Amino acid sequence: MSVVDLDKIISLCKRRGFLFQGSDQYGGLQGTWDYGPLGVELKNNVKRAWWKRMVYERDDMEGLDCAILMNRLVLKYSGHEDTFSDPMVDCRKCKKRYRADHVDPNEKCSEGGTHDLTPPRPFNLMFKTTVGPVADDDHIAYLRPETAQGIFVNFKNVLDSTNRKVPFGIAQIGKAYRNEITPKNFIFRAREFEQMEIEFFVKPGTDEEWYRRWVEDRFNWYVQLGIRPENLRKYEQKAEELAHYSKATTDLLYRFFPDRPDENKQFDEVEGIANRSDFDLTCHSKGGKLVLKDGTVIPNQHAVNKLTWFDHETNQHIVPYVIEPSAGVDRATLAFLIDSYHEEQVKEEVRVVLRLHPELAPIKVAVLPLKKNHDGIVGIAKEIKQTLQKKCGWRTVYDDTAGIGKLYRRQDEVGTPFCITVDFDTLGEGKDPALARTVTVRDRDTMAQERVAIDQLPTYLAGRLGSA
Ligand code: ATP
Repeated sequence: MSVVDLDKIISLCKRRGFLFQGSDQYGGLQGTWDYGPLGVELKNNVKRAWWKRMVYERDDMEGLDCAILMNRLVLKYSGHEDTFSDPMVDCRKCKKRYRADHVDPNEKCSEGGTHDLTPPRPFNLMFKTTVGPVADDDHIAYLRPETAQGIFVNFKNVLDSTNRKVPFGIAQIGKAYRNEITPKNFIFRAREFEQMEIEFFVKPGTDEEWYRRWVEDRFNWYVQLGIRPENLRKYEQKAEELAHYSKATTDLLYRFFPDRPDENKQFDEVEGIANRSDFDLTCHSKGGKLVLKDGTVIPNQHAVNKLTWFDHETNQHIVPYVIEPSAGVDRATLAFLIDSYHEEQVKEEVRVVLRLHPELAPIKVAVLPLKKNHDGIVGIAKEIKQTLQKKCGWRTVYDDTAGIGKLYRRQDEVGTPFCITVDFDTLGEGKDPALARTVTVRDRDTMAQERVAIDQLPTYLAGRLGSA
């Protein structure tokens, strides 16, 4: 049993090159993070595992990669310009700003006593910029606050170019930007982050069934990749919590904060799955309309296409309903890091090991020479590294900068499933000549060691790494 707090993960991430503060060299930029050599591998693996299961292993999905800069009208008719805001409060004493639902008014203020908070007012989270050489109101554009809108406004493009029939879905992975009032908890709440979103278009009337299937499919994705089910919860939003356009929403909550005393507060959202009805396609459609929460109706006077699908069975144009599983890449990556982190006593030492699913592990294999200045040993070790990385396509590292025990610990700490040691037996210079051209393969989880012929390594490791 291991309870890890976020501080341990943050320190491991920085020390081993998973993540650095954005713009670190100049004192940082709050709410931005740079993924280092191991972080980029891990994050890419998370995205690949999502794309593989959500797009390639199904027959009803297409992919998309839209621009981050968006025409202001997209975000006007989606409702973001008017309503994509969080309630903000100021403390009159310390002059700090807080998201109203993230600050406890009884909390201590740095200026003494408790905070003296203003009433909440809406703060729009979108990053605004201007496009082109003229910086006036006519040239305003936004950095997308979610990838979803790019999918909705491309609905007709994808439909026409692929001849898909409803039900089908469109998947997209990419950056999103939100000017969060208080970015915090490492990559959990950043101002620049990445999303993996699906808009799955279905016939009205079949939406509830599809919604339930997607909630299950998405829950299972995390579990299949190693998240312990007891650390993942489905939270079905109550009627009063639902966004006004949502028929139903289930949040998948991960135990990001296991050290909090109140168990319910240990969990927070890693993904939301919503039944958004026909809201999005209607508001972006030529002749359609956006209906705001307060009932205000904004007719769409700018869109160029009707976003409908012709159902040959009923001979009718219909506006499909949409099921949206929307996940955060960074939050998922953090969940995989936290869930895989283990500390265990091995003899006198504490062994830190990331028991990452092999598919997610940033490095699949480390090749370690038993003696670093020995040409024969080093030559074979480097040759194995080349073969496994170039021919087999597994991220493989060569490391000779410490003794073997320390090298093993280093790889355990970053979740490398296998270490290969090349020694004098490999050269045929040990006690048993039968061990020539064999190496020791050490398993991260069991620490068991096996002797494997060099020629057999690709097959042996492919079997053990699975689809990684
Ligand atoms: P929250 O309530 O935590 O602000 P949200 O409900 O606004 O999140 P959505 O709009 O549903 O989030 O976005 C979908 C997913 O995108 C979230 O489940 C989360 O994984 C991710 N996400 C949203 N905001 C951030 C952020 N500021 N930093 C990192 N990931 C984020």
